[in-house]
Amino acid sequence: MKIVVLIKAVPDTADERILDPQTYRVDREEGDQIIDEITERALELALSVKDRDKTTEVIVATMGPAHAIKAIRKALSMGADSGIHVLDDSLIGADLVLTAATLAAALRDLGAELIIAGNESTDGRAGMLPAMLSEHLGLPLLGSLTTAEMSAQGISGQRQSEAGTQEVTATYPAIITVTERFAEARFPNFKGILGAKRKPVATKSAAELGAGAQSLTTVAQILPRPARSAGAKIIDDGQGADELITFLTARHLI
Ligand SMILES: Cc1cc2nc3c(=O)[nH]c(=O)nc-3n(C[C@H](O)[C@H](O)[C@H](O)COP(=O)(O)OP(=O)(O)OC[C@H]3O[C@@H](n4cnc5c(N)ncnc54)[C@H](O)[C@@H]3O)c2cc1C
Repeated sequence: MKIVVLIKAVPDTADERILDPQTYRVDREEGDQIIDEITERALELALSVKDRDKTTEVIVATMGPAHAIKAIRKALSMGADSGIHVLDDSLIGADLVLTAATLAAALRDLGAELIIAGNESTDGRAGMLPAMLSEHLGLPLLGSLTTAEMSAQGISGQRQSEAGTQEVTATYPAIITVTERFAEARFPNFKGILGAKRKPVATKSAAELGAGAQSLTTVAQILPRPARSAGAKIIDDGQGADELITFLTARHLI
């Protein structure tokens, strides 16, 4: 089986994330960039399939700036076989529409049975990209899975909704997104780190992919965070419940 894992290089959540005041984009040059935690779990799922069946091929793909290669190399050191890095200055600040169209172009001819993504990331976190990808590629999407079982015919899994637990299935080829309920990623070992240097990484430009789209949206303004005001304090001297109801009603909270 050929599995593509969509990994995303994101600013380390332990660092302060900064928006560039000129471009209103996340400053991706400052601080450490790491593999988004949920995409690491997505990779772990793919590698666990490979552990059971050595014929499985795991490809990691990312669209991101030059330093995203570190995320790819880390994924290769964990056990992925090869990487695809979509790298192009024209894609800096790409919106969701452009990102999805470009990644779809990068994945279209790979012949993957399964594409695994995270259900959201710590920076973009719209969680819309996999759905757009499924539309572009004409593939079924099983989103926000909390479990996944692969068989020769297809994939099945569970997801939680307000109505309860849903059991969902799809035949290959398919796209799934996984949540933080999946297992944590393994650490690369010494052999893996050495081997990663020899594994192939294909770098693709926007022109090579012929994605032919452009960002439809731009961030025009960022408003400063409003100053915090002191909260209201209700002291219960017998009227506390009434005062609380009045307070919440005035703010349309009940
Ligand atoms: C400050 C800021 C402003 C933005 N403004 C706009 C805007 O105006 N208009 C607009 O359309 N979008 C905007 N975006 C959104 C941004 O373009 C999207 O976050 C991005 O395209 C990822 O989509 P997502 O949020 O749906 O996916 P996420 O929730 O970030 O990720 C879901 C999954 O998709 C996969 N994935 C996502 N991105 C990549 C990638 N680059 N490479 C590989 N896999 C990936 C991963 O598997 C990930 O787990 C903005 C983002 C930021 C941080």
